[in-house]
Amino acid sequence: MPAKVELNQATVPLTWQHKRELDRKEKHHVVVVYESLEPHLRLSWEWEARADFGPVEHRITVENLSGQEIWLPMIDSLRLDLETPEKTELGNFYVEKGAGTPSSQGTHLDSVVQGYHWTGTSSTYAHPADKEAREIIPAEFVFTATPSQQGWYAGIEFSGRTRIMLERSGDAVKTVLGLNPEPGPFRTRLEPGGSFQTPTVFLGALNGGPDGAGNQLRPWVRAVLGNPLTWKDEHYPLTVNNSWGSGMQVDEPLALRMIAESKDLGLEMFHIDAGWFRGVGDWYPNPKKFPHGLAPIADEAHKQGLRFGIWVDWTQAALDTEPGALNVRDPKVRDWMVTDLSPDWKPEAFKGQTVDLGVPAARGYLGKEVKRIVEDYHLDMLEHDGYLVAQGCMREDHPHAPPNRSTTKVSHDWGSQFVLSSNSTDVSYHAVRAYYDIYAQTRQEHPGLLFEICNDGGRMVDFGSAAHGDYFSITDTYDPLSNRRAFFDTSYVLPAAMLESYVEKWPTPQPENFLYMLRSGMMGWVTIMLDTTAWSEEQHEAARQAIALYKEKLRPLIRDAQLYHVSERPDGVSWDGIEYWDPARGQGVVFAFRGTVRDQAEHRFVLAGLDAAKRYHLHFQDGSAPDRFTTGGEMMGAGLTVRLLNPLSSEVIFLSDPATPQ
Ligand SMILES: [Zn+2]
Repeated sequence: MPAKVELNQATVPLTWQHKRELDRKEKHHVVVVYESLEPHLRLSWEWEARADFGPVEHRITVENLSGQEIWLPMIDSLRLDLETPEKTELGNFYVEKGAGTPSSQGTHLDSVVQGYHWTGTSSTYAHPADKEAREIIPAEFVFTATPSQQGWYAGIEFSGRTRIMLERSGDAVKTVLGLNPEPGPFRTRLEPGGSFQTPTVFLGALNGGPDGAGNQLRPWVRAVLGNPLTWKDEHYPLTVNNSWGSGMQVDEPLALRMIAESKDLGLEMFHIDAGWFRGVGDWYPNPKKFPHGLAPIADEAHKQGLRFGIWVDWTQAALDTEPGALNVRDPKVRDWMVTDLSPDWKPEAFKGQTVDLGVPAARGYLGKEVKRIVEDYHLDMLEHDGYLVAQGCMREDHPHAPPNRSTTKVSHDWGSQFVLSSNSTDVSYHAVRAYYDIYAQTRQEHPGLLFEICNDGGRMVDFGSAAHGDYFSITDTYDPLSNRRAFFDTSYVLPAAMLESYVEKWPTPQPENFLYMLRSGMMGWVTIMLDTTAWSEEQHEAARQAIALYKEKLRPLIRDAQLYHVSERPDGVSWDGIEYWDPARGQGVVFAFRGTVRDQAEHRFVLAGLDAAKRYHLHFQDGSAPDRFTTGGEMMGAGLTVRLLNPLSSEVIFLSDPATPQ
């Protein structure tokens, strides 16, 4: 609990008293209430278990009942001290965001030795202090270095600037989760009658190491944070055709051609990427490219049985002056920007200036703009992109804390419109809340609408976004290796169905290279992002079959099955693979990828999650080996041997338990 607040520019110490009569204690939900009398504040300390499995959630809310403006210091979401014998060997497992390009490491397992001190940060930007240091998907798995790998996991359900700290000293292991207090000092305004809520965190117990934690956390994210309507849709995750294979060139003839191609290939959604609009912040169809607008394109997609979605960078403003455009020079709009722009400022082709969404007028305007875009263009899916959350803000009259002018330098490079300031975390706190409100409202008005979360690639991959969107662009680099790396990392903590891989043009001289390219993006949500009209008839047929197989046999497993990482992280050189196993269906699949090395024609994948005593049927989809029966003991001991003749090829091996009724 905070020990003091600021009131009329003076520091006031607080005395908190437990208000037992205000506590709420239900079976799965506990709220303990404290009050301070001078000034009058109410603090609610809340724990909730929203599913009968997986983690519990925690948050702290402070309400201002005083009638005066008050400034709160940092309140962490959770501080946990765990007594741990000094000799217990512990590991700390965490994964990076795929961001622009997955790094060469991506998944980390640190040994939590005496003196260990680790801080992992998450925001919607690259790591501020060191561009080489990577941001994490805000979660930690901490477990013993024993065969049972037991421990706990925790994470943060928020997209603003957050951090997780873990340290060990003597018999104490301490962790702190919450908003990032750096660069400090953090403070946030509490209007009279207003409230502050820490980002919600979750905390659970695990065994079986990272995959054991993931096999609890993924279904929990689906059940508790996920959109029930989305998961009810048996076509989710959808198969998609995206126009970025032709870059900004998209127009009506290309769109109509792509709709026909999508139908022919068996894809289920047509997705127009950047390039359709008049200009940045001017989200109306370019009349030269779309003389009849976007609605007829949507209607044609619908007529062909496809869904329709578009890319919009809806928090960006620029210089267009047509009615409806968000213009940075407009006196009404100018103050929504994080700072005054220089007279020679110009936007890029699809990147402008981020509006501070935390400003009520901006939020009101942009909420209406999102509604208009969804309704006027008959959307089934809206992808946002760009830097949605301002990185800092120089304005004194916004709801967030004012900047510390002596330590803030403004820069107008895109992607770092701002050097961090003492108010950066508070700016992100307000902007992210406004973003969540707009999306919650839009979902309510348009049930069944899908939101794709993209923030200059995979920079907004977190549990807050997972609670407000339907799927993630997990990286901004789309070759087979980058797709598999981003999937490998992200699938430890988020449901595979939510993890989108864009499949882009890549050299495929041989048919096996073509399948390798497609399948590298088919372990979660798949979006084809290349000019399919350039494919040969053989490639069309191979793609048709791969997409049909995805919809019929892979998608049910991607939605529901347990997931095991049955290889080292992909390096493109050696072999890598992912196993799905669904005990309820008695079915599973192993995706096997062979890298570039010439003398490794064979690889053994040691599987997990099976019953050692049971018999299983193996089916090699491409016929690289004859079908046969095996045992769980063999698959989890000696392993599943896969042989592939050529480098840069793949196989899909289905497992089934003949004893499970289908
Ligand atoms: Zn601001």
